[in-house]
Amino acid sequence: MSKDALENANFYFDSAAKILGLSHDVSVQLKTPHRQVKVECTIQKDDGTIGTYVGYRVQHDNARGPFKGGLRYHYEVDDQEVTALAQLMTWKTSVVGVPFGGGKGGINVDTSKLSESELSQLTRKFVDGIYEVIGPTTDIPAPDMYTNAQTMAWIFDQYAKYRGYAPGVVTGKPVELGGSLGRAAATGRGCLFACQNLLEATGGTLAGKRVAIQGFGNVGSWAARLFAAEGAKIVGVADLSGGYVNEAGIDVEDAIAYVAQHRTLAGWSGADRIDGSAILVTDCDILIPAALGGVLTKENAGDVAAKVIVEGANGPTTPQADEIFAKKGVHVIPDIYANAGGVTVSYFEWAQNMQHFYWEEEKVNEELRRVMKNAFGALWHETKSRNISMRMAAYVVGVGRVHRATALRGV
Ligand code: GLU
Repeated sequence: MSKDALENANFYFDSAAKILGLSHDVSVQLKTPHRQVKVECTIQKDDGTIGTYVGYRVQHDNARGPFKGGLRYHYEVDDQEVTALAQLMTWKTSVVGVPFGGGKGGINVDTSKLSESELSQLTRKFVDGIYEVIGPTTDIPAPDMYTNAQTMAWIFDQYAKYRGYAPGVVTGKPVELGGSLGRAAATGRGCLFACQNLLEATGGTLAGKRVAIQGFGNVGSWAARLFAAEGAKIVGVADLSGGYVNEAGIDVEDAIAYVAQHRTLAGWSGADRIDGSAILVTDCDILIPAALGGVLTKENAGDVAAKVIVEGANGPTTPQADEIFAKKGVHVIPDIYANAGGVTVSYFEWAQNMQHFYWEEEKVNEELRRVMKNAFGALWHETKSRNISMRMAAYVVGVGRVHRATALRGV
């Protein structure tokens, strides 16, 4: 799975390098991660036993600015997955033109098995292991799967013990600690803007479109809420507990309130139950995979009904599935553009922290709209002028900019 994640990332990079005519040497230089850190995180559990976990931080590239990317707490986290995701961050920050490079981290842990105080201890141990290589101008972590604003608060606090007050060391913080208004919704809102930009370019609108979403965490639930607010009908959602479909459109606020109380959608009565993976092939116009990577494969791609796929997750589509979608004429809005709203508002948060000057939420959302629109313009231009997929266009834009920055800086 995670080996596949790295192979897939490298495959997409190599294809773009070919289109750009990059030499083998330069391709190797751009692909090779700058630094990979692995640390032991041992905690004393509530029952008195000892728990030892492995934490990772991979810094892929910083030619365009400090390393930037999330921290994932998941039992599938390993060297290769984190390395793949760090590379995706390098191209993502470049596609949307924010002045950062790419990094990613994580801890191999099942968070459902730890209490709040164990998670706090674990996060602080991780910071003890990596504080020397992170910082507001070196490497800036953020939330990813199974981490959130509280996790960032613990990192901010633990880092401050070593280096003093430095809110710019992490983004996605609670607003009370220097987080940005609009950051929690940002990835979902970015998915909305990405989809609206594509529909505008292809002569459609969101009104009445039937949307299915895999994943009902931060990205999936915000996407559901924001797409519904623009007149789309959310006909299906899925989380760890299974899939939930309702042709009349699900009541998104009811589902969100249910999850806030029960942790998952298990037992929610607002829709018919289906198998979790069946959500990907359910009848809909727009599919938003917003959970794990590698879920759209050669086995199910042929059965996907959607004409537009918005990659809220990182790496949800394998290269084989991508090829099937291209043949079927499905528009795949690639992860490194579609879910870049999160890191874009992370950039706004970091800029606010550095200036100690805070923005209204309206300004955050408007700036995000502008960034997503500009990035789409560059991507769509490459798609049309080179007759390539949107994914390849995004890689051509992203890799091209990093390549130029790298060449300007010199070896
Ligand atoms: N984890 C998010 C991503 O994959 C956000 C990263 C960030 O804000 O730095 O893009």
